Amino acid sequence: MRTLLSETDPFIVLTQDAAAKISKAKGTSGRIRMRFVPSEGMYIISAITSSAGTTLPVDIPAEYRSLNWDGERCDGQWMRKPQDGINVLHRYYINRTSGTLDYDGFRKMVPGISDPGNYSRLLITHDPDLSPEAVQAGVHEYAGWNVTRNGVRPLHIEVEPKVVGLQQLADQWPIEQLSANSVMVVGCGSIGSATAEALAGYGVGRVLLIDPDRFLWHNMLRHTLGPESVGRRKVHALRDHLKSQWPLQDIEALPLDVVSQAHLVRPLMEDVNLVICAADGIAPRRVVSHLARRAGKPAILACVLDNGSIGELLRLRPTPRFGCLLCFRAHLDASGAMDAEADQELDYGTGRVHQPMTAVPPDLRLMGTLAAKAAVATLLESLHGDHTQALPGEHAVIGLRPDGDLAPPFDAKAAAGISWASIPQPRENCPTCGAA
Ligand SMILES: [Zn+2]
Repeated sequence: MRTLLSETDPFIVLTQDAAAKISKAKGTSGRIRMRFVPSEGMYIISAITSSAGTTLPVDIPAEYRSLNWDGERCDGQWMRKPQDGINVLHRYYINRTSGTLDYDGFRKMVPGISDPGNYSRLLITHDPDLSPEAVQAGVHEYAGWNVTRNGVRPLHIEVEPKVVGLQQLADQWPIEQLSANSVMVVGCGSIGSATAEALAGYGVGRVLLIDPDRFLWHNMLRHTLGPESVGRRKVHALRDHLKSQWPLQDIEALPLDVVSQAHLVRPLMEDVNLVICAADGIAPRRVVSHLARRAGKPAILACVLDNGSIGELLRLRPTPRFGCLLCFRAHLDASGAMDAEADQELDYGTGRVHQPMTAVPPDLRLMGTLAAKAAVATLLESLHGDHTQALPGEHAVIGLRPDGDLAPPFDAKAAAGISWASIPQPRENCPTCGAA
């Protein structure tokens, strides 16, 4: 049994189940069992005994792995409202640097307390009848005390909230609407993996990951995945990674090549609200532009250009106002701009000698997050009528490490600068934009 408490600010963890077992226990006091993890100064309540003597083990969800760490076994006491205002007193003392109460005085106030002898003993006081004013002032239903004969010190208690994860944002962000939406992510490399993470964080309910490649050593530097995933298909490893953090999200992993297996990807586009292409190279971008347009779905294309000096975001909406990727390219050609996509044909990102990887990992994450932002903004505006999510344009150039020596519209001058512009209408007789 543990005897002396650590001098550094320890705290007590109550899972929902532990809190419920205390609040529902018959009688007004009982014992608690805990595990103490010294390295973290953390007490984890593992069983509650009612005054009738029934001991109930506490449920600690397996996903909270550190709360399941083993530790030193110790026990203590819980008491329901042994004194009016006891938890208000706790609140008063806990923020004081010398917040120690006199043992004899505390014992008079809380007469049922066990004598700690020469050791220390942990006490949890439960007050279910706090006034709204007290709650407003930061007083909690559960309070912890470290009791020694030399004095009684208040301890923090953290109770697992009823609602965790995205649901906590229910009043601030349209998670309900977005949970009904689905996005296809083509390309699950450095940019695409960041895109997928951001889509999960925004609350997009269903995501289809499409990429035929394996996650290998050279990917580790720039990817959201790490060494645990080496050798796996990127889509499988990314799905498992996201699932662990966003268990409510529906993620499909499809190891498909959007170019050579376009016939398999095409029908999948019918069932999504939007397509993001974060794949390197001209071919996948063209295929996504064409298939998305034909499926009547908006597409967001994200990449870095010119050895990672700038980022490019292109939104293609299937309306008569805006042309496809080839229409935009033709427009750039005609205006003498850089051939943005030829730049992509150099196997950028593969680490080959002729084209070393130069984009820095956070710049790629920035592009991935921005692509997800543009996608979610498009969904919210077009499907849910949220005009606060209108984007400034269809084409964005983002300064990453800009030289400023490229031709417009790629002449980014400042790092972190984003310049937005519109894109032209479809060309006449465009095979993508024209009638089917
Ligand atoms: Zn077109």
